Amino acid sequence: MRTLVASHPLVTHKLTMLRDSGTDRATFRALTDELVTLLAYEATREVQVSSVTVQTPVAFAQGVRLTRPVPLIVPVLRAGAGMLDGMTRLLPMAAVGFVGLVRDEESLVASTYAERLPGDLTGRDVFVLDPMLATGGTLATVISMLVDRGAASVTAVCLLAAPEGLRHLEGVFPGDGPPITVVTGAIDERLNDKGYIVPGLGDAGDRLFGEI
Ligand code: URA
Repeated sequence: MRTLVASHPLVTHKLTMLRDSGTDRATFRALTDELVTLLAYEATREVQVSSVTVQTPVAFAQGVRLTRPVPLIVPVLRAGAGMLDGMTRLLPMAAVGFVGLVRDEESLVASTYAERLPGDLTGRDVFVLDPMLATGGTLATVISMLVDRGAASVTAVCLLAAPEGLRHLEGVFPGDGPPITVVTGAIDERLNDKGYIVPGLGDAGDRLFGEI
């Protein structure tokens, strides 16, 4: 598994505003959207393309276009839904699947309550959207679902990651399957005893959509 930290001043600036507990919900949503588009640029660096020739008004030009089948984007409900628009802005032709997981507050173990994915992902690049890579349990479950369906590559886009979660994913995906990449805006210090990233930004789902 590979980890890419998108260390760019604009990424860090937007992340700092997201971390600020004084940032209101509307601003938090708008910043998440902008930040995901910046992370998406890094995350799609190795997306599969095929060579094409087009005719400009002047001459023929060699170029590329995205290979078919088109990439699949999978937001992990609930919080990942707040990242979807930012990702589809760069990949408007992508298909979208959904997975819903909820984390038990005591055990921190994630269980699946919704799943709408193509049965066969052979040859497809898949982008998973999950803002907070905390224990890594949720992402490990989702990435395994995608690898089992034949995904050619899986790239997780996360606003923040904890070292514990990255280590967990490295253990589950040691590198003998399709390429697995985590693209994140920052790697924070640690998890606290409630499974929150420190310093983090709090509960991403609550900050995007409110407490339910
Ligand atoms: N999920 C969140 O929303 N925040 C964390 O800090 C960890 C998991």
